[in-house]
Amino acid sequence: MTRIAVLPGDGVGPEIVREALKVLQRVSRLFDIPLTFEDGIVGGAAIDRYGTPLPLETRNLCRTADAILFGAVGGPQWDNLPVDRRPERGLLALRKELGLYANLRPVKLFAPLVDASPLKREVITGVDLLVLRELTGGLYFGEPKEIGPTPDGKGERAIDTLSYTTCEIERIARIGFQIAERRRKRLTSVDKVNVLASSQLWRRVVTETAKEFPGVELSHMLVDNCSMQLIRDPRRFDVVLTENTFGDILSDEAAMLVGSIGMLPSASLGEGPGLYEPIHGSAPDIAGQDTVNPLATILSAAMLLRYSLHHESAATAIETAIDRVLEAGHRTLDIMQPGHAVLVGTAQMGNLVVEHIARG
Ligand code: NAD
Repeated sequence: MTRIAVLPGDGVGPEIVREALKVLQRVSRLFDIPLTFEDGIVGGAAIDRYGTPLPLETRNLCRTADAILFGAVGGPQWDNLPVDRRPERGLLALRKELGLYANLRPVKLFAPLVDASPLKREVITGVDLLVLRELTGGLYFGEPKEIGPTPDGKGERAIDTLSYTTCEIERIARIGFQIAERRRKRLTSVDKVNVLASSQLWRRVVTETAKEFPGVELSHMLVDNCSMQLIRDPRRFDVVLTENTFGDILSDEAAMLVGSIGMLPSASLGEGPGLYEPIHGSAPDIAGQDTVNPLATILSAAMLLRYSLHHESAATAIETAIDRVLEAGHRTLDIMQPGHAVLVGTAQMGNLVVEHIARG
């Protein structure tokens, strides 16, 4: 029996995770994959109940599970807490503790959504790239990270640190090259080598690691140029390998290539059980309205089947079902094309995907 830890979190988290669970239950029956689901509390909900965003019980549940399905955390009611006690700390701590250093963010356009993107169809048709974001180092985790008085006592000074070791760069680069080998064999490493020392090491180590993968074509790109090229010519990219913060920003930008941030899933892999979550946040502005797009979370569940359970056919069945539902013209508000589609709510979108899942 495969144990899945389910951490819905805050805001829209419970709504989107509910739909992903319906889909997992359906494939569990259809493909005869025995799954059990165990709920854990995390983020703001955990702060309210236990005073901490990642209670011990949740840590233990995640450590011993085979995979983790995560919604989203955060919300305005916790915004005034100090940075180290905010809901997002629960997720960051979980990624760090489980050694989940590789964050895979596939950006693939579903053909029926070609006109849902604000970009021209001739630019985005056929977009299929993967942002590989380093997840447990870089600017998010480097020390020192603090706010304190200036030496002359005349104000405050805030410090964040962007630090990487050879080992941290090597292991994420290796994953990037391995993924590229199974795709179109091109890897773009994104850095800011003209300004940052950490990028100089990053570029050197990635170039060295590339020698182990002669079948993959490596190129380097500055992050500011990459943000432009993603809009100008996104089809040039296959695997985009980058630092934690750069990857966070570039993948939100890439979301617009496929119509909405509500379409982008992710997998965080490394030493512990894989963690699967949409790339978006808790969207408090639309929570509880049955309007949030659950497809990013459902696609994350498909990634769970693919990467943690190695059940490719079940993962593909979910992706094909989503394609069919979109092809039939069903849309949540964020991807709605007035006059060309039928508006559905969160729960109905989940039900439609369930109905369309079939064995290949
Ligand atoms: P967000 O991603 O939650 O929302 C940005 C915008 O996109 C909002 O207008 C929202 O309504 C919309 N949106 C997001 N997901 C959608 C979906 N599935 N369907 C339709 N529309 C969707 O980012 P934000 O507003 O900057 O942050 C809100 C909270 O989420 C903050 O507390 C932030 O810290 C937190 N956050 C959490 C995570 C996480 O848990 N992994 C990631 C990012 C932000």
